[in-house]
Order: sequence, then C-alpha cells, then structure tokens
Amino acid sequence: MITVGILGGGQLARMLALAGAPLGLRFLVLDPSHDACAGQVAPLLVGDYRDEAILAEFAARVDVATFDFENVPAESAQWLAARVPVHPDPAALAVAQDRLSEKTLLRELGIPVPDFAAFDDRAGLDAALARVGTPCIVKTRRFGYDGKGQFRIKSPADADAAWEALGAQASRTGLIAEAFVPFDYELSVVAVRARDGEFRAWPLTRNWHVDGVLSASLAPAGEPEAVQQAAIAHARRLAEHLDYVGVFALELFCREGRLLANEMAPRVHNSGHWTIEGAETSQFENHLRAVAGLPLGSTRMLGHACMLNWLGHMPEADAILREPAGHWHDYGKQPREGRKVGHATLRDDTAAALATALERAGGALGREEQVRPVVELLRSPGASS
Ligand code: AMP
Repeated sequence: MITVGILGGGQLARMLALAGAPLGLRFLVLDPSHDACAGQVAPLLVGDYRDEAILAEFAARVDVATFDFENVPAESAQWLAARVPVHPDPAALAVAQDRLSEKTLLRELGIPVPDFAAFDDRAGLDAALARVGTPCIVKTRRFGYDGKGQFRIKSPADADAAWEALGAQASRTGLIAEAFVPFDYELSVVAVRARDGEFRAWPLTRNWHVDGVLSASLAPAGEPEAVQQAAIAHARRLAEHLDYVGVFALELFCREGRLLANEMAPRVHNSGHWTIEGAETSQFENHLRAVAGLPLGSTRMLGHACMLNWLGHMPEADAILREPAGHWHDYGKQPREGRKVGHATLRDDTAAALATALERAGGALGREEQVRPVVELLRSPGASS
C-alpha cells in the first residue's frame, strides 16, 4: 500500500485524493490551515511548511510526496527530498517559482516567450520599460498567481503608479516586466511524464480568463494539428529538460497562429479539470500514477468538454445536475470574494450538442456571460464536430 503525501491541502489535493482512492492509494495532506478543504476527504496534518518537526512527521508517514501548491518553500521541498522521493523534483519547482528563471529556461529551450526584464528598484523599472517597451505587465517574480501581484502599464507615465503598487514587494519577491501580448486567445497544454520518461499530453485546451482568473476551459481547443503538435512539443521539451515526473501545465498565448509561452504550473492545473469526466484518464489519476511509479493511462478525449469555474460562492447545482452529462464539483470551501470554490464540467459527443447544453445551463444559472464565448466558438464554422 502506497501513501502519497501532498504538500498543500486545497482543491487540487482534494481532487487528487478522490482520484487516488480507486487505485488503492492512501494520502496524507500537509497544510497550515485547519480547514484546508482536502482535509474533508483525506487525513490532514496541520502545520507550517518550514517546521522541521512537522516535515519529519510527514516524511515518516508517506512513501512519496507531491504538491498541490507550487509556492511551498523550496528549502522545505529539498529537506523532504533528502528523506523521501518527491515528485516533481524540487529543482523543477524552483524553476517554476521564479518567473525570471522560468522565462529564461523557456527561451533557452527555444520556446518563444514575451520579451521580459527583471528588476528590483525604481531605476531598474525605468530600464526594464526601456527594454521591453509599453504596454507591458509588471509582475512579482515569485508568489504571484491568478493575476495577483500584477500591474498593467499602458505607457511610461504609469511607471510611478506601478512602483506604488508593487515596489514594496520588490525586495521580497523581485519584479519582472513582460511585454503585453495582444493575444487572440489563450491555450494550455496539460501533460504528464512518468518516472521512466513516458510522456503523454491531453488535447490542447482553450481558456478564457476574467480579471486574470480562469473562467472557462474548452477541450478540444479546435486548433489546427500543426498548432497542437507545436504546443505539445514545447511541453515535452520542457518536461524532458527538467526530468519532470507528474502532471504540469504550460500556459500559452496564441496570436495569429503563433504560440508564446506565459508560464508553467508544476502541478495539476485548473485548465485540466475537464479531464475528470472528459478524458479516458484524468490529470489527477495520471499525476498519481506518475508519482507512484505506475503505468500512465490514456489521455484520449471523450467527445467535447467545457469546464466552468465557480468563484466566490457556489451557484445552484440543479441546472448542471439536470444536464445528461453535467458534473458538479463543490470543493467544500467557505464562500469568499474571488475564491475558487468549485467548478462544473459539461461534456457531450459533438460540439453542437455541448453548445446547446452550455446555453441551457448558463441561462438557467444566469451565467450567460460566462458561457457565451465558449458557445460562440463551438458554433463557429471552423469548430470540429
Ligand atoms: P499569470 O498570473 O502570469 O498566469 O497571468 C494571468 C493572466 O493575465 C493570463 O492568463 C493572461 O490572461 C494575462 N496576462 C499575463 N501576462 C500577460 C502578458 N504578457 N500579455 C497579455 N496578457 C497577460
């Protein structure tokens, strides 16, 4: 019997534990919070990631460790890795924790990225703006997620306001300016690599964000085969370079058929939640298969799937539950403005049938705005059936 330790006890850990039960896996989740939502479905150890006594107890009780959260201190991950196998490797986590090292590596691997420049003082901001130009986005190098710790600069005149907003964090996290990409849309590749190097990717996913937070994902994205192959080749090159084990996501901007990488998430990813019902093997199950050294499952899609994120509070479930292929995921979290509290996935055999189901459910929930771009894409002339 294998016990998988998960650092971080949010919804990703919760869905990992739910996916691992049929495989006979046991879990132990470590999180600083008593009400971490994974604790509702798996044993929870409450404590700080930097507390060596807690880490020692965790290490003694698990056979292998993984993450639901990429901002676990790199030193804690390394401390653990000296005692128990940790997947993905803390070195991969460290690359993804810092936007500068991440973008530098992507560029070295020949994966196009927007122009960027790191800095940590006010004069450095001006130099960075001169280098990447405007418009651009200033981001914290570390600890940013879901558009948090970001400031959009339209012209050099916004530099003072950007420094006002993020300057205080410069010494703690470092800052980076990235050229603003006037993308047509956003895509992600969710992929998995096993301990023996086997690599598989799910079909490319199209993503819609609102205020920097994922709102909806659709798979397949309906991209031409060449774009799909290019995206998967980027993901594969990155995974092989990092000797990565487990699931990860590569977030991409698409502009006039050209891909630019935004960032890598070294864990199961929100844009892969649709795989629970929309693919032969979900991202959660394949992540566990990879970290536990089991054979990977097929990443083949089952028709068309759309995931809708619920932020702040859960809507009424009935409109989704009434759908023939509607699936409901309540993370068991307290409602809070902007918080990811759950999601739903609708699946169907054809793009047209999925569009109809989305329109019906979106209307019943008063969420027409959230489903509209997805429905439009599914109904567009080029959409695959
Ligand atoms: P991130 O936290 O870097 O994933 O950014 C969150 C979202 O902000 C992305 O999914 C995009 O919608 C947007 N964004 C981030 N970076 C850029 C960029 N360089 N150009 C345009 N939009 C961006």
